[in-house]
Amino acid sequence: MNTRTESDRLLALRKLDLLDSAPSEAFDRITRMAARVFGLPIAAVSLTDSDRQWFKSRVGVAHLSIPRLKAPCSAVADSGAMLVINDLHADAHFRDSHLAHSGVRFYAGAPLITSDGYTLGAMCVLGLEARTISATERDALTDLAAMVMAQIELQHTLGRVDPLSGMPNRKQFIEDYADLQMDRPQGERRVAVLVNMANQEQLNNAARVMGASYFDDLMDEAIRSYRAFLGEEHKVYQLAATQFITIAPPDIDDGAYTARLAHWLDSRAEWCTSRFVTTPAIGIAPFLLGRTECLDVLRIGQNAMQDAHQTGQLIGTYSSAQDAAYQRRFTLLNAFDAALDDGHQLRLVYQPRIDLASGRCVGAEALLRWRHPELGDVPPGEFMPVVEQTSMVRAATNWVIREAVRQLAAWHGAGLQLQMSVNVSAANLLEKDFVSNLAALLNRHRMAPGWLELEVTESAVMENQGTALATLAALDEAGVRLAIDDFGTGYSSLAYLQSMPAHVVKIDQSFVRNMAGGERNRTLVNTMISLSHELGFRVVAEGIETDEVRQLLRDQGCDEGQGYLFARPLAPEDLFAWCAREQAGQAAARPPWKPICPPTPSPARHTAT
Ligand code: C2E
Ligand code: MG
Ligand code: MG
Repeated sequence: MNTRTESDRLLALRKLDLLDSAPSEAFDRITRMAARVFGLPIAAVSLTDSDRQWFKSRVGVAHLSIPRLKAPCSAVADSGAMLVINDLHADAHFRDSHLAHSGVRFYAGAPLITSDGYTLGAMCVLGLEARTISATERDALTDLAAMVMAQIELQHTLGRVDPLSGMPNRKQFIEDYADLQMDRPQGERRVAVLVNMANQEQLNNAARVMGASYFDDLMDEAIRSYRAFLGEEHKVYQLAATQFITIAPPDIDDGAYTARLAHWLDSRAEWCTSRFVTTPAIGIAPFLLGRTECLDVLRIGQNAMQDAHQTGQLIGTYSSAQDAAYQRRFTLLNAFDAALDDGHQLRLVYQPRIDLASGRCVGAEALLRWRHPELGDVPPGEFMPVVEQTSMVRAATNWVIREAVRQLAAWHGAGLQLQMSVNVSAANLLEKDFVSNLAALLNRHRMAPGWLELEVTESAVMENQGTALATLAALDEAGVRLAIDDFGTGYSSLAYLQSMPAHVVKIDQSFVRNMAGGERNRTLVNTMISLSHELGFRVVAEGIETDEVRQLLRDQGCDEGQGYLFARPLAPEDLFAWCAREQAGQAAARPPWKPICPPTPSPARHTAT
């Protein structure tokens, strides 16, 4: 046996995905016909695996497979020729075989040969009596084997073409990619080109208005013109309703090739007859044969294409830096799920909030910290926007609120009466049971709702205005305080500010930080403070880093401040110690020291109407 040929033959067999597949009536019909034509009790479509004969279809055989050793079908697979054994018991080689021992005397097997010339196994008939075979029966067995092969190739092809367009599909791309890796030099640099003829929104709109089949014509035209423009040697694979991929020939000049692609897209008015305007985009994915996995080529092609869509360009080329950023986001997302369950990776730190007139600490903002076992500390500014894109944000905020309220109750129990601020995300405001769960939690810890403040950004509310405002109104009704976080960075529409059932406006640190830098910046913050006061909000300035800024803000009437000047976010025990020190310091500087009082239960200055 030629071992190279045998391993190629096994590869060809495995690629067909036939081994251990479910029984199929299409094959059984042929097998039954074979038994009938020969008037024999046993017939089978037998595939020769490395160590067994596996029956894709069988009549009169109980086993699913038999050992390959001394199996006549294996001899057919080795020789690629028909084998007839009139009497196994009289045959010097096969008399000692598994079949002969099980009572089989007659065997005839015709090879199952692929179009590439690999013999997969045999179409065989078997009898319990010795017999001969006529020339007509030989022809019939050959025809039956050909029918089996036609069925195998049909099934194989069907799984590899798009049923509507008839184009090779993603599965075929993966298979051809494996062949390319074997046929071409290892490490050869190639480029995959992923074309998307419409963005997701256009796909949805067109499917609504014109029906999904609209894209079949668009794709048909695009693929035909693409090959006409770039060369018929481009094998095109359809990946999705509006997407196709192709691998550019070797040794292309990237710049010239990209220019040709751009020219092809620019000239679409000439080849595209559709009246529905779509925005196509191309993703270019360079890769190294034998080094880059096929699925990675597809992935980076998709990334480059989506980047092109997002940046409004026609063509996007994969960038490893950007890919690393995507990969990290993806890693973070998967790891955050585990972190929520872990119990050790997440913790809260607390940053004091200072009443600027009295200098007293009146509250603390809970800020989430994540120490990943391998990646180390990951800042919330990096992971929260990623988590917020998923349903995990619900669990994340739940975790934060539970922990913050537990800490709030612990401080109160220890005589430190602060107000606790917690950041919540847009998606939390859409949770139906958000308010009731929160009320139950506060109740469990015997905390008056007024000790808790939830911070939401303007954009979080704008994302789903109706429901978000209703949740805010319900929270207000329940007595929980509400703050508009990062004020000035979002929509900042006065009409909308007017309708927010909130108590506090937190001026974003970007404005605060610039205050010392010039009159205009100071005027801007001053205006924000006056406007917020006029609308009835309490004003908090974020990111106070210098005493100069603290004084400016205090003089402008800003109510509270938060920033590194006072304290960085602290572990709970450090915040407790910090507050104790501050109080002691204040008592010495300005006796008599006034104890911290609970916030006066003031209703939100507005309720949504
Ligand atoms: P934020 O809610 O506006 O929080 C204030 C951020 O400013 C915090 O960053 C804080 O450490 C930082 N900061 C405070 N004072 C100063 C200062 O004087 N100078 C400078 N440069 N920075 C200061 P952090 O903790 O990295 O949080 C960043 C953002 O991540 C938060 O902005 C918030 O949007 C989000 N975040 C943090 N924890 C949570 C959470 O539990 N849930 C949600 N949904 N978001 C969170
Ligand atoms: Mg905040
Ligand atoms: Mg903020």
